[in-house]
Amino acid sequence: MANMRMDKIPMPEQDPKARIGNFDEAALGYTAEAAVDEAKRCLNCREPRCVEGCPMSVPIPAFIEKVAEGDFKAAYEKLFAVSNLPAVCGRVCPQEALCEGRCIRGIKGEPVAIGRLERFTADWHIQNGGASPDDGCAEPNGHRVAVIGSGPAGLTCAGELVRLGYEVTVYETMDRAGGLMMFGIPAFRLPRSVVEMEIVRLESLGVEIITESTVGKMDSVDELFEQGFEAVFIGSGAGKEQKLDIPGEDLPGVLSARNLLMRAEELERDALGGKRVVVAGAGDMAVDAARTALRLGAAEVSVLCGVPVNELPARREEIRRARAEGVRFLPETAPKEILAGANGHVATVLVSGPDRDSLAADTVVVAVGAGPDPLLLRTTPGLDSTASGGIAADPVTGATSRVGVFAGGDAVTGAATVIAAMTAGKNAAASIHKYIQGK
Ligand SMILES: Cc1cc2nc3c(=O)[nH]c(=O)nc-3n(C[C@H](O)[C@H](O)[C@H](O)COP(=O)(O)OP(=O)(O)OC[C@H]3O[C@@H](n4cnc5c(N)ncnc54)[C@H](O)[C@@H]3O)c2cc1C
Ligand code: SF4
Repeated sequence: MANMRMDKIPMPEQDPKARIGNFDEAALGYTAEAAVDEAKRCLNCREPRCVEGCPMSVPIPAFIEKVAEGDFKAAYEKLFAVSNLPAVCGRVCPQEALCEGRCIRGIKGEPVAIGRLERFTADWHIQNGGASPDDGCAEPNGHRVAVIGSGPAGLTCAGELVRLGYEVTVYETMDRAGGLMMFGIPAFRLPRSVVEMEIVRLESLGVEIITESTVGKMDSVDELFEQGFEAVFIGSGAGKEQKLDIPGEDLPGVLSARNLLMRAEELERDALGGKRVVVAGAGDMAVDAARTALRLGAAEVSVLCGVPVNELPARREEIRRARAEGVRFLPETAPKEILAGANGHVATVLVSGPDRDSLAADTVVVAVGAGPDPLLLRTTPGLDSTASGGIAADPVTGATSRVGVFAGGDAVTGAATVIAAMTAGKNAAASIHKYIQGK
């Protein structure tokens, strides 16, 4: 029988005061009992609006029905048939703007907690061995495809292609695979072990990942073709950080958010001990940088939002958690200039905003977004770019101006979301399959 409770079953969290003392996951996930109860809130709609809201068309009511029945294995199989990274999506997808934003239960109360149920199902699978479901990878077809970048775009493309029987090699600059899932989104939102498990599962399907290998510096795209790859997918992300473009941005004490997030777990626990930290930016990266600064001992963290708080392009749930941890959001306030103190180090940020015109600061963190790195455009003849510096690619097929080269994710669109990157990777895999089989 349906559970007609109006709100979502709450998901336990670490206490805010305790969690700013560690990098462990803030949200603790549903128990099996809570998941079954929440799943029973789903009405199993005949025309499920939630699925329309999901870029990957995950069969949401079908997997939730299995959770409600307590058949978590079957629930996982339904998810994995469509998504290569369910434990990631369940944690970081902006569900409020996608599936949950469309859920019929959200009209009079809270939507079904689709993200929490996805996370529960994927975690249950990991805790129970984490092997790939026997979903029948096709027999090897003898064709080879190279994938550049091991973020969600590249990994999804690779996962789809090995399932179709291709031999896929992923090249990755960093020493670990995962892209921004590993080096951007902080561990207190997306534990590294979860990303690793998803990657191990893809490797067990046959995806080969070569780390510390930058295409364009080592082999070029042309050389990959010479080595026998018949198609190349570029999922190289948007690794070139944008700047504030205000005076004082190069002063000691001004940090880049990407750099801070990438190094956070190796830094001393009091690396920002007692400091007043000002974060400039409004998206997920800004909120993550602010929460990271608290975990590194900052005494006070303020985010200069530039927009009203209800318009922040960051996840609602994470803004709520950030506030509970002590992050202060200054709406409609933008930095104008960063000034040094007598020691030459950052001391003050001049701002324009409704409540103040300056703010004392020991550290300023710049979190205003990122654009694609031009390396591959520079080293691949015939590859066209977009006006904003991305790789020009068909939004549906991922085809670029170079025959046999496909692209998707942040490398094409600029900084976006995991699910958008996964969708692009999946669509490109279908196009690559069609292209190679049609040759
Ligand atoms: C702090 C932060 C928080 C975020 N939070 C969220 C969130 O909550 N929800 C959400 O949906 N999205 C979030 N995002 C955005 C999301 O992480 C990205 O949109 C997504 O990871 C893009 O995927 P991608 O595969 O296109 O690129 P990436 O994840 O950037 O992966 C690209 C990979 O390609 C590699 N590479 C680049 N060039 C080369 C080369 N020449 N040769 C070999 N390898 C190369 C890079 O090293 C990298 O590993 C966040 C991003 C940041 C920075
Ligand atoms: S719209 Fe909501 S209630 Fe309907 S099937 Fe989807 S999750 Fe269930």
